[in-house]
Amino acid sequence: MIDKKEFQDQKIVCVDCHCAFVFTPGEQAYYQSRLLSHPRRCPACRKKRRLSIVPDSETRR
Ligand SMILES: [Zn+2]
Repeated sequence: MIDKKEFQDQKIVCVDCHCAFVFTPGEQAYYQSRLLSHPRRCPACRKKRRLSIVPDSETRR
């Protein structure tokens, strides 16, 4: 028996720009495989944050 979970498109409202974006089945599988919680931001805002945030937690000394 194949216990295959079917992923479906999920609509999520971005916490930053409040636009609705689609959390695709492919992304859901990726997030689940990495045990990540669902994204709260649209891809555009995630990209923006990645570019603007300086990871100061990496400077440990
Ligand atoms: Zn956004």
